[in-house]
Amino acid sequence: MTSIHLSQAVQDLSRRHIIPLSGGKDSTALAVYMLEHYSSLPLEFVFTDTGAELPETYSYLRRFEAIFGIKIIRISALDLPELRVRSKNGRRSPFDVFLNEVYSGFLPSPQIRWCTRMLKIKPFEHFINNENAYSYIGIRADENREGFRSTTTKSDYKNSKTYNKTEGKTERGKPVVFSHLGNILPVYPLKDIGFGLRDVNNLLINSGLGLPTYYQWRSRSGCYFCFYQQIGEWQGLKIHHPDLFEAAKAYEITKPNGRKFTWSQHRSLEELEKIHKRYTLSTNEAQNGCAICHL
Ligand code: SF4
Repeated sequence: MTSIHLSQAVQDLSRRHIIPLSGGKDSTALAVYMLEHYSSLPLEFVFTDTGAELPETYSYLRRFEAIFGIKIIRISALDLPELRVRSKNGRRSPFDVFLNEVYSGFLPSPQIRWCTRMLKIKPFEHFINNENAYSYIGIRADENREGFRSTTTKSDYKNSKTYNKTEGKTERGKPVVFSHLGNILPVYPLKDIGFGLRDVNNLLINSGLGLPTYYQWRSRSGCYFCFYQQIGEWQGLKIHHPDLFEAAKAYEITKPNGRKFTWSQHRSLEELEKIHKRYTLSTNEAQNGCAICHL
């Protein structure tokens, strides 16, 4: 999909201007940059809530709203009309709804990443509602992340009630986009203005917002149980949010046929918490994670 240069996109008022926020530093820095330079544009700030985000993420987004005096639009997979969950009692976690009612308890993994597609991309596309839009994406000039790779196949979720024929396609080596729909054009402002990691950090610090506090023990935004976490990040979750660590453990099950569903392919969280060695976080930013969730 062709990307549009920032200078061109900001001239075009015939389309919507959407800034998806993940609660991570790069998408937030992008939002701050756009507010500081293009505040007259009808910018729409959107956060897609999986229902399993870190408490620090929610509070960081609230701080962003307070400092800049803007309202972030919060959407979720529960908005998808095909789920019809709003008519049921109470408001439930989008992740739990999909896990239990669509994927029959089949946990997502790097190979079968239904969570990104169903909890992030589809609600975003639903929000755009077939209108013409630019989606501003926080890929920096000093990184080269790849886009969403859907390796899901029909057999991966044969029990799914909402199987989508387009799911089987694989996107390899493509730039990060929030959608492959032709009406949603990607713009990469941080790349266009040559912003790298240091620029992003400086922008956030100088704005008064700073970085999300979870970066003290975790390298990425996203779900508290994200399967991309390193051992040190799981250990950090246990220290900083023992309740969420226990909640993540509770998702791991062994079926009567002996098949194990664990977040990590190498060990269960019960095994992981028995590791005495304290792992430090890799100083290299992981670029193999979910660029959509972790920007
Ligand atoms: S943060 Fe991780 S678990 Fe959550 S939707 Fe993204 S890839 Fe899936």
